Amino acid sequence: MNIPHSDLPRVVIIGGGFAGMALARKLLKEDFQLVLLDRHNYHTFQPLLYQVSTASLEPDSIAYPLRKITRDSKKCFFRLTEVSSITAEENLIHTNIGDISYDYLVIATGSKTNFFGNESIEKNGMWMKTVPQALNIRSLILENLEQAVITDDAEKRKALLNFVIVGAGPTGVELSGAIAELRNNVVPNDYPDIDPNEMNIHLLEGLPRVLPPMSEESSKKAHRFLEELGVHIHLNTMVENYDGELVKTNTDLALKTETFIWSAGVTGAPVKGLNASAMVEKANRYEVNTFNQVNGYENIFAIGDIALMQSEEYPKGHPMVAQPAIQQGKHLAKNLKRLVKSEKLEPFDYYDKGTMATVGRNRAVVDMGKLKFGGFFAWFVWMFVHLWFLIGFRNRLVTFFNWIYNYINFDKAARLIIRPFKANKQIMEVDDDV
Ligand SMILES: Cc1cc2nc3c(=O)[nH]c(=O)nc-3n(C[C@H](O)[C@H](O)[C@H](O)COP(=O)(O)OP(=O)(O)OC[C@H]3O[C@@H](n4cnc5c(N)ncnc54)[C@H](O)[C@@H]3O)c2cc1C
Repeated sequence: MNIPHSDLPRVVIIGGGFAGMALARKLLKEDFQLVLLDRHNYHTFQPLLYQVSTASLEPDSIAYPLRKITRDSKKCFFRLTEVSSITAEENLIHTNIGDISYDYLVIATGSKTNFFGNESIEKNGMWMKTVPQALNIRSLILENLEQAVITDDAEKRKALLNFVIVGAGPTGVELSGAIAELRNNVVPNDYPDIDPNEMNIHLLEGLPRVLPPMSEESSKKAHRFLEELGVHIHLNTMVENYDGELVKTNTDLALKTETFIWSAGVTGAPVKGLNASAMVEKANRYEVNTFNQVNGYENIFAIGDIALMQSEEYPKGHPMVAQPAIQQGKHLAKNLKRLVKSEKLEPFDYYDKGTMATVGRNRAVVDMGKLKFGGFFAWFVWMFVHLWFLIGFRNRLVTFFNWIYNYINFDKAARLIIRPFKANKQIMEVDDDV
């Protein structure tokens, strides 16, 4: 890997997501040799992936080069690599560019899409965890619209103009709202041969309400917002099969579609090699104590989505969202400094800043403790918070101007088929192995 020897303790971080990046930033100037490893050379701001897949934002405005972080310190190194396994007895990790030893290992590998064992969905559906996957969805939506314009087959046209999103958590709700806006604002201008009423967006949810992690009040508001945008909501509906053409559910509902997007859940993305006792098998996440130490290991830590820290308040661990990841990353930096000075470690205490979801233009819902609100003000708060947490000044500026442009023009400027998806399906198979 070409990392020089150093007398400083070496901290290896696997994953430059929210958790890994928060930790790396805090350790840059400290007395450690820091090695950051990631399979991508950029950090992905996942909360805005849906805007890439619906042509509102260019992908580079939600990605941030990881070397821009490591370049600020001579003791810090980035390597682009896939980590395959860990040999904890030798303090060694194995990657596709060689092995590297560590004094302290921090696993911040996040999560991956959960198909709940349904192979038909994994084989034929689309999902959105990475920038290439979001771009695949963008291409597919636009290719389907282009194809609908030219097909003579009425059944085929219907399937091309049916958009099915499964899972009404924040991602599914935001995605459905954004596709509905594409239908309401862009299709009438760009595709005069398509009647917007022919284009149907179906949101399927297994539970009895949308946004299950949020309050009942916000859920009701979001439901109304989606209906106002013309999204068909199907609650208590579980998908049983999707063969690439037909969606079958546990109810009478069956839908023909060429766009099937799965946003119904995630599961941990661990690295092989640690003892079985380190894992909470059902969640596929590492069991950690209040210092983020992985069960059974003193010098291995896990932070973010991949870490499951049980407490009285969070018996199933913290929610798999950005804030616990960022807060754990920052907290672990302080504890690692304490550890090398043989000081007492401090337990992690999560500060819940609230949850929010947007449902298209001027509409969002926010839960902040006892405070719950929706509508234009919530949308404004949503935009401010996302701009604030977006990494990099350039990204904030570009996103801000894009949003202003889209707002004034009712437009989605990035509606480009740069890399056709349908015509080049094997790309998806490579990218989606993550
Ligand atoms: C579509 C979508 C929308 C979301 N919206 C919101 C939202 O609105 N608000 C919110 O708070 N949260 C949201 N989340 C959740 C949030 O993004 C995650 O909770 C957060 O990213 C977790 O941070 P992390 O650092 O644990 O993992 P990640 O940010 O996923 O980072 C993991 C990193 O590890 C790397 N990696 C993984 N395995 C390996 C390996 N073996 N070798 C090398 N590198 C590896 C990955 O490339 C990645 O860079 C959303 C997630 C998605 C997918």
